[in-house]
Amino acid sequence: MLLEQVEYVRPETVGDALEILASDDGAAPLAGGQSLVNVLKNRVASVDVLVDISRLAELSSIARTADGGLSIGACVTYDALDRSPEVRASHWILGDVAGHIEDQQIRNKGTIGGNCCLSDPTNNLPPILVALGAVMELRSRSGERSVPAADFFKGYFATALEPGELLVSITVPPMPEHSGAGYASLAVGADAKALVRAAARVTLDEGGTTIAESCLVLARVAHVPVRDAEAEARLSGADATEEAVRAACAGVADGMQPIADVHGSSEYRRQMAKVMARRAVVQAIAAARGSRNGSTAGGK
Ligand SMILES: Cc1cc2nc3c(=O)[nH]c(=O)nc-3n(C[C@H](O)[C@H](O)[C@H](O)COP(=O)(O)OP(=O)(O)OC[C@H]3O[C@@H](n4cnc5c(N)ncnc54)[C@H](O)[C@@H]3O)c2cc1C
Repeated sequence: MLLEQVEYVRPETVGDALEILASDDGAAPLAGGQSLVNVLKNRVASVDVLVDISRLAELSSIARTADGGLSIGACVTYDALDRSPEVRASHWILGDVAGHIEDQQIRNKGTIGGNCCLSDPTNNLPPILVALGAVMELRSRSGERSVPAADFFKGYFATALEPGELLVSITVPPMPEHSGAGYASLAVGADAKALVRAAARVTLDEGGTTIAESCLVLARVAHVPVRDAEAEARLSGADATEEAVRAACAGVADGMQPIADVHGSSEYRRQMAKVMARRAVVQAIAAARGSRNGSTAGGK
């Protein structure tokens, strides 16, 4: 289907974009357009004015924060994340997850902000951003606010964004010493979307033998990324060995009621969540011990 006629504007500044978004209920930000244009073509939603934010310099940079974390502009593309020396130096996994999204054309256009603001439960970046403790920096004509990634994703295609608000950047805190991250996805069939994902961040004790602290996030078991606090508690203090991680992950998702759909039953997702969680935590331990600050099994 062809796109219906729609007004298109390309503001020069973030302030101008916020003015337009605040003054017109029918205006929507256009970032990479990879999802929004398809939504409009398929008449799933309609928009009066597309506000193209994709070329705003303020939204397109990656900077190191004073504490050694990252500030990533909302319109940074997956390809730019993948190739960024700053990202690779401190949060290797973010570049790697972005570099595994679909194909090069999608990676050239799709943005970290669009990936999050769409809140499509199959998207790759939300679970790893939650695991890394990222914070979403939002701005509107009337002010700014910071929302932890863990609170940003509200449901199926729903976020904490208020009308007229833009996600301007994402702050990713520095990785603590002796820490690493891991990411594992299961997709069945060529071109299939992920059925279950797990993202993990672990901090080891100084000797590297025990898990001091962990964050384990599951995706596709619910419509938003969810932490498995019970599994995190079992991992805390566990030996940093595959055997101990396997035991701690045996109960992953047991307290949850994973979604069921045509792609997989609730029970299948629960079982696969245990496997993905174990893989992600084992990778995170290896990353914490090695030079990499995060490793991943990639996949969609
Ligand atoms: C064939 C195909 C395969 C894909 N496969 C995958 C995949 O495997 N994994 C994956 O993660 N993604 C995948 N995607 C989705 C792709 O990653 C999209 O790029 C992403 O969902 C949206 O990012 P975007 O920059 O294109 O945003 P857009 O499509 O421009 O916008 C998406 C939504 O977010 C809003 N928005 C965008 N930026 C902001 C902002 N800064 N502030 C407020 N609101 C904003 C828009 O108004 C719109 O509602 C695929 C897309 C296609 C077309």
